Amino acid sequence: MRFQELSESQTVVSRIIQNSIVSNKVGHAYIFSGDYEPYLLDTATLFAKALFCESPDGAEPCGVCRNCRRMDSKNIVDYIEVEPDGASIKKEQIQQLLSDLSLRGAEGDRQVYVIHQAHKMTTQAANSLLKFFEEPGVGKLAILVTTQPQLLLPTIRSRAQQLAFRPIDRAQLAQTMSEELSCTYDLAYLALTVYPKWDDAKEALEQEWFVQAYGLVVQLIEVLTKRPQELLLFAQEKWLGHFKGRNELRVGLELFEHWLEEALHLKVRDTYAPKLFKNEAALYNAFIQNRSVTKLTHAIESVHAAIRRLEANVNPQLTFERLSFDLQKG
Ligand SMILES: [Zn+2]
Repeated sequence: MRFQELSESQTVVSRIIQNSIVSNKVGHAYIFSGDYEPYLLDTATLFAKALFCESPDGAEPCGVCRNCRRMDSKNIVDYIEVEPDGASIKKEQIQQLLSDLSLRGAEGDRQVYVIHQAHKMTTQAANSLLKFFEEPGVGKLAILVTTQPQLLLPTIRSRAQQLAFRPIDRAQLAQTMSEELSCTYDLAYLALTVYPKWDDAKEALEQEWFVQAYGLVVQLIEVLTKRPQELLLFAQEKWLGHFKGRNELRVGLELFEHWLEEALHLKVRDTYAPKLFKNEAALYNAFIQNRSVTKLTHAIESVHAAIRRLEANVNPQLTFERLSFDLQKG
């Protein structure tokens, strides 16, 4: 990405970053907040690239110098990314980061570190980082990326400059993706919902597996609507053969959860136009006909509970059987 592109959708953010670079007034810590993490991360990378570039044009990195090429291949020691280890970013990870920052810095004065999903820092991790913020040293730049800035410690928020990104138009992204891959808009939108990162969504769409997963979710809903007593049979014969491992089943359940949420919107307001599974209008109507708002809400809660069980390492088959039971009962 270039600043020129960034300016189209994020005029203010782009101007603030470029001004800070050109006037040599880059702060020591920023919070990038917005609803689409990949975009925030791309902007963080662009910011770093602009700072490392050997011959920028204004703030715009040249794209061809040694450092630009190193940034493109993420092969530059003074640029460090930290991601959650499982559900959280732990104190040890921040300590490791701070130790790396003190050891490195051989190639120049500038070091940039980016913390993905910064709201997932534990309190101890955040406090370690805060201590560092008090005496960050010269040339070190922190970029905390988050989709949920309200979950950051207030003390972190008050010591960093927050740049709030405008919401991303996911419909536009889905349109671009569907054109690029010649797939339907509906599939592209679903893939971008289940896999928020562009590259992951693209990879999923390129595989027959995701297309089949979509088909199976529709079949699951048909069974639930027309022959609910056959749910377990369907699970054994078809569903569990496709969604084998924990991650695969999670994708299947998330797709189903999105269906349920759209169905609930439609139940509450009959003029609602579903954004997902757009071609299934007849199935939506049949599905919500004999289901109350309470029942739909209960179904969504059951799917959430199933996803939590998967995360807690419950066997996928058991998880789905329990869900089938909850859905029939509810
Ligand atoms: Zn360059």
